[in-house]
This record gives sequence, C-alpha cells and structure tokens, in this order.
Amino acid sequence: MKIYVDFDDCLCETAKAFTGIADKLFGKKVPYEKVRFFSLQESFELDDEEYKELMEYGHRPEVLMAYEETPGASQVLNEWIDQGHEVYIITGRPYNCYEASRGWLDAYGLSRVNVYFLDKYGRNGADGKYEYNMTLEEYYDLKFDFAVEDSPLAFRFFEHLPKMQVLVFDRPWNCDSALPGENYTRCKDWAAIAEIVKKQSEL
Ligand SMILES: [Mg+2]
Repeated sequence: MKIYVDFDDCLCETAKAFTGIADKLFGKKVPYEKVRFFSLQESFELDDEEYKELMEYGHRPEVLMAYEETPGASQVLNEWIDQGHEVYIITGRPYNCYEASRGWLDAYGLSRVNVYFLDKYGRNGADGKYEYNMTLEEYYDLKFDFAVEDSPLAFRFFEHLPKMQVLVFDRPWNCDSALPGENYTRCKDWAAIAEIVKKQSEL
C-alpha cells in the first residue's frame, strides 16, 4: 500500500505548541480544545502582524524540534514500513523548515521515512527545486491507497483519488466539518488508524 501521512497534528502536536506560543507572545489564552479553526489567525484572534510573528516563531528550528510526538505515530509508521508499505510524509510546511523537520523525524525514529514539501496552503510561492519539494504534478502522479490528514483545507488534494481511504485525525478544528465522502473515516488516534489499514491489507 502507498500511504500519505500529513506531518503537523498527525505526527506531532503542533496546535498544542501554538497555544503556548500565542500565550507567550500575545497573552492569548486559548485552550487546545477551543482551537476551532484550521486558521490559527482566526482561532487566536490575531491581527495580520501578530499572525506573521506567530508563524515565524512557530517555525524556528528549535521550536519545531520541540514539538511533541502524537502518541503512537512513530510506532505505527515503522510497523507499516516493516510490513512493506510505502509511507510518504507530505507536509504543507514552508520549504525552509526542511532541516528541522528532517531532524525531528530522525530524532523520533523515523529516519527511514521520506518527507516531501507540497505547497498545500500557498506558503512557498515561486521557489527553487529541492530534492524534498514536490510539485503538484509530481504529487498527482502518485496513487495513494490511504491518506492520514487533519486539515479540511487539504481534502481538495484527494479529489482525484475517489477510492482512496482518507483517515481524518480527529482534532477540534475538524470535528464540525462534514466529511466529503464515504471514503473518509474519522479516527481518534493512531491505534484506530493502524486497525483500519491492517483490516484493508488483509482483504
Ligand atoms: Mg496537519
């Protein structure tokens, strides 16, 4: 099986880290459960300048490296690789986060997994070609069997694969979103995700 895995809030607890950063920088006290919008600018009620500062701070290498692992993520990905599945981590982080992102994966036992930077949210603009960035053309050439994603804004990248199983990682900002199709399943944790992939592999 070929499996797409998103990085932030699937492999690591990015939004939880951002709640701490918003408090530290601007005194905004928004508990994780109240992060209702994928847009952190909306969730924390920040103006444009504050939002820019928040994003800049949250993408510093030492801050990225400190994100906590989502329980079970590394174990499940390694089991998939051991079973012969192809795992692609496809993130919408800015390209300049590559080294810290790679460093985080290596630190959490995920050195066998490739990470690709796809401009999901228009954060990169016209940029150079790196071994780790992936153009939309390259992305659309890949035929995935599963996707693990938390962001409703990324669902449009799955429209070309109506048979792919999309496993939506349950988060406060997606729990009110209607899922686009029957191939979407809400999953509360990595154990639930692993179970679905296991069942499908045994068919
Ligand atoms: Mg994400």
